[in-house]
Amino acid sequence: MVSMAHSTAPAAANGHTAKASAFTPGTTANGTLPENDASRKRKTAILPLEVGSRVNCRWRDGKQHPVKVIERRKIFSDGTNDYEYYVHYTEFNRRLDEWVKLEQLDLSTVETDVDEKVEDKVTGLKMTRHQKRKIDETHVEGHEELDAASLREHEEFTKVKNIATIELGRYEIETWYFSPFPPEYNDCGKLFFCEFCLNFMKRKEQLQRHMRKCDLKHPPGDEIYRNGTLSMFEIDGKKNKVYGQNLCYLAKLFLDHKTLYYDVDLFLFYVLCECDDRGCHMVGYFSKEKHSEESYNLACILTLPPYQRKGYGKFLIAFSYELSKKEGKVGTPERPLSDLGLLSYRGYWTRILLDILKKHKGNISIKELSDMTAIKAEDILATLQNLELIQYRKGQHVICADPKILDRHLKAAGRGGLEVDVSKLIWTPYKEQS
Ligand SMILES: [Zn+2]
Repeated sequence: MVSMAHSTAPAAANGHTAKASAFTPGTTANGTLPENDASRKRKTAILPLEVGSRVNCRWRDGKQHPVKVIERRKIFSDGTNDYEYYVHYTEFNRRLDEWVKLEQLDLSTVETDVDEKVEDKVTGLKMTRHQKRKIDETHVEGHEELDAASLREHEEFTKVKNIATIELGRYEIETWYFSPFPPEYNDCGKLFFCEFCLNFMKRKEQLQRHMRKCDLKHPPGDEIYRNGTLSMFEIDGKKNKVYGQNLCYLAKLFLDHKTLYYDVDLFLFYVLCECDDRGCHMVGYFSKEKHSEESYNLACILTLPPYQRKGYGKFLIAFSYELSKKEGKVGTPERPLSDLGLLSYRGYWTRILLDILKKHKGNISIKELSDMTAIKAEDILATLQNLELIQYRKGQHVICADPKILDRHLKAAGRGGLEVDVSKLIWTPYKEQS
């Protein structure tokens, strides 16, 4: 069984963070080594290129962009330099990492680090300089929550995408990240998913055969919300293990920085669907631990790429808080959040809190805001501090609620997306049946 949740790794030791930032001034803005470090690079391109090389690469926009070679593999042809390279575009998000052919690379721009093994002073592990730099860079870029060891494990495990595209319902979708499918699926670039039971297959004909006998037209589990063409299903990972596992495999293709647990039993899955006469088509989902000591009300959240930028992510977040309100608890998402996840949450918290502040007359405390919204006090404080709405006056923190400033922040936070109509939610909180 495989399920995904965020890592709860301890924060990086101060020593490591300090060292990482001390390391940064040695690199220039584009990440290459400065000229006085010329002894560590060679200007002539020797083929095949070494892992760790930096070179310019022609991207899908037709322009050259700096990349770093993450991995290489032999391709089976009669050519002499028959390798292809898995590259990271240093200017872009990691989700755009991809395999490229040699002819896309401008070999006059190659810079190769000499990979002598260096010792990481924090962990005592020997690693190549480019591995160490990668870890240090990643820390500087804002992944301080992950400790060095789990980050290294993560980088090693997830660096190369194994599945390039999937077919799901009427969509063919390019994937973003590695996902730990069973080894027998690692040699196929494309996977075919049944959009209802989420079973996946290597060949189109297998899927067509499956669709003739698969009797599901919606996710398993209980429909707990229906409003127009939108439905939400609650799936218990213990009762529907295979579905939960398939959903996790699928989701990981689009989620970074997830630690894998091998037990979907502990989770509930909330799958949002657009419904028509052909069935209920999955748009996105979030997962939630059945019991959380840390008051997590959401573990993983994903809107599938074809449905992004339509307000569904905001809907899923709002939905998770409506469940918390029904439970009479405050909730918070598990950390770390993905980049897209954090953006969505910041927007949600800003809209909800500032709407209340705008309408409210007189003083209001963080506790009162938390009781009204089910948003955890820490998240409220962080949101208001981030917007510089907390001031320290006469020995105490006060919320500054100038209507003009609130309006400006509300405008910047964007619109709220699809509304959750609570009257359409038919749900009782999860209780263990013994
Ligand atoms: Zn099926």
